Amino acid sequence: MSRIAYVNGLYMPTRSAVVQIDDRGYQFADGVYEVCVVRDGRIIDEERHLKRLERSLGELSIRWPVTPSALAIVMREVIQRNRVRDGTVYIQVTRGVGPRNHVFTPETVRPSLVVTARSVDWAVADESAAKGIAVISTPDNRWERVDIKTISLLPNVLAKQKAKEAGAGEAWFVDSKGFVTEGASSNAWIVTTDGVLVTRDVDRGILRGVTRDVVLKMLERENLVFEERRFTIAEAQSAREAFITSAGNLVMPVIKIDGRIVGSGMPGELSLKLRQLFFTEAEASPRIWRPKPIAHNSKLFDK
Ligand code: PMP
Repeated sequence: MSRIAYVNGLYMPTRSAVVQIDDRGYQFADGVYEVCVVRDGRIIDEERHLKRLERSLGELSIRWPVTPSALAIVMREVIQRNRVRDGTVYIQVTRGVGPRNHVFTPETVRPSLVVTARSVDWAVADESAAKGIAVISTPDNRWERVDIKTISLLPNVLAKQKAKEAGAGEAWFVDSKGFVTEGASSNAWIVTTDGVLVTRDVDRGILRGVTRDVVLKMLERENLVFEERRFTIAEAQSAREAFITSAGNLVMPVIKIDGRIVGSGMPGELSLKLRQLFFTEAEASPRIWRPKPIAHNSKLFDK
């Protein structure tokens, strides 16, 4: 089945879906994005993701390409046309097409919208979670507005590649003062030896993860002690547990940081519990589609 993408008002096969070379997303990485997870035909935490998209757009003075409710319809259409029951839906908005010039005029640039969806076998992430992943650290060489979810991800791409080449699943960025900011595509957490959950406070130095927000709500609900503060790699290495959060990974245990074993070297108890409880706190949309039952020729079955 060929995949279908939505590009500026049209649904088309992904292999022939194109944007103009003068699109500012292509020329300048001048755009923002969101990724929502689809589980059992439901979009997870859609409202939170669309709110963050609104914020990202606002921070960059990019207009909504379509209304949020129209976008919600497009997302559902793309999910359904690609028959995604479990997977992700990707939304990208760029400032639009214009002659290549750093300066833009909000009046003349019409934002571009691309929406795609793909199936993901979540069992693979569950298998990783059962084993835990390794993390490496790397200097945070990003710009100072990483709170905006821009498509300008080159440092993240290179950090993730470095992690992969080191046999790790994630790279944690470390700021100039020696504190962990976040992962290349996730937020970073530890559980101290006293059982306190710690994740960096939200400022402009991290992306405010939707999963991070959901986990914090869950901690409040479960009366677990947490602190939003900075921590170093050394503190993380001597922590009881460590984990990362992101929409695709949910809560993913970390068992090694820069070659040093964390805790027992096995996924932490609390990390696994939070992973297990995640969907009790996340918001799921009504089911978008059900696979059609296989229509059987009743004559074959009639006696
Ligand atoms: N930080 C960065 C840099 C990310 O790319 C992501 C994933 N989008 C996150 C944190 C986690 O965000 P979320 O929980 O919304 O997926």
